[in-house]
Amino acid sequence: MIKIGHPQIETKEGKTYLKAFINNDAENVNEWLWFATDEAYGKYFCQETSDAFVLPMILRAVKTHQDVYVESAMSERLFHNLNESVFYAMCKTNEKKTGEKYKNIVKIHCDNLISKRYENNNSVGTGCSLGVDSFAVIKRYFFNNESLPSYKITHLTLFNAGAFGSKEKEGARKSFFNEIERSKKFADKLGLPFVWVDSNIRSFFPEFSFDWSHTYLNMSVVLSMQKLWRKYLYASGYSVDHLEFDIDDCAKYEPYLIPMLSTENTELISANMNMRRSDKVDFISDDKMVQENLYVCLKEQIRNNPNSKYVYKGNYLNCGQCKKCHRTMLQLDILGKEDLYRNIFDYVKWPKEKEEYIAEVVVGKDKDLMYHDLYESMLEHGYPLPLFKLKLLYYKIHISWKIRSVWRRMKKALHF
Ligand SMILES: [Zn+2]
Repeated sequence: MIKIGHPQIETKEGKTYLKAFINNDAENVNEWLWFATDEAYGKYFCQETSDAFVLPMILRAVKTHQDVYVESAMSERLFHNLNESVFYAMCKTNEKKTGEKYKNIVKIHCDNLISKRYENNNSVGTGCSLGVDSFAVIKRYFFNNESLPSYKITHLTLFNAGAFGSKEKEGARKSFFNEIERSKKFADKLGLPFVWVDSNIRSFFPEFSFDWSHTYLNMSVVLSMQKLWRKYLYASGYSVDHLEFDIDDCAKYEPYLIPMLSTENTELISANMNMRRSDKVDFISDDKMVQENLYVCLKEQIRNNPNSKYVYKGNYLNCGQCKKCHRTMLQLDILGKEDLYRNIFDYVKWPKEKEEYIAEVVVGKDKDLMYHDLYESMLEHGYPLPLFKLKLLYYKIHISWKIRSVWRRMKKALHF
């Protein structure tokens, strides 16, 4: 059984904390899970229900075949959706992946279900990482939003829920607080209030990739402040036509999951589900605001990770060398808009690296939806593919991937 203790609120050193003690019997984990923000927004933390602590335990419970017990209270709607749908869906998905049958589908237990509405939570939030997904939501729901007034963004946010790395925790926290400055400045430009929330939530998932759990983790941060949020727009990772129950990549089943995690007080919305990433880049790339502020780069996370060999020393906002920069630079090139972004991307190494990256896209297009999307976009726009060179690179990459895969399997089999 995973037990979630009564949520508590405390304030120290100018920050307000919402925390609950977690006992995870099967894995012998007994730890506080906490969220923290500045005192001004601490008053919106929701101590009345344990919803924020339930969400990160969903996959933990599925993975370890344990039920969840909530000592205090939780939202009736969330309780219903978990027991009537989500746990069934995720247990069956996990069965397919691992072959391990469940004796019983995982359940959540709670004796105190609440459906009371808060009166003043009229805010609409979205993340402000300043990447492609984030800008596409801001453009759709703030600048281009005459027709849907109750969906108009009122606040921008940044959460430390795993996006800044997890293996090196203090480095991740340092990256997060550095990024806060950039996001807050941008929110000030738009005249929108900015909310940050720090958390130790990612440390409950040390063995899994962020792709596995980011929807649960970010939505749990949102539910920690149900007294603020009426609606929260979470940028979709993929377009809805790629909906698939794949336990390794929660973005693929977000169109199903996100509404299921909503409560009576906070509606969670997967935003821009009708756009592929290439559509999003096309949608935002002519805007001056984006041309000056688009920030897709991983350099900050890389800089604060002492195990990383590569550190960017240039002065550009985007290093032009990490995988997220490459992805965006190729898309801009496909759209014929790279000249608009020369001031914020470092293009020095790109001419040499571009062909190899295109070959990677071609090789990976059937395994990775991001590559698939780029590849489709190249075909749609008649992007010239230097076929002979690509063929050579294709084999080079394909062979090196094969070697890596055989090496990984050998390591696993021989336990070294
Ligand atoms: Zn970069």
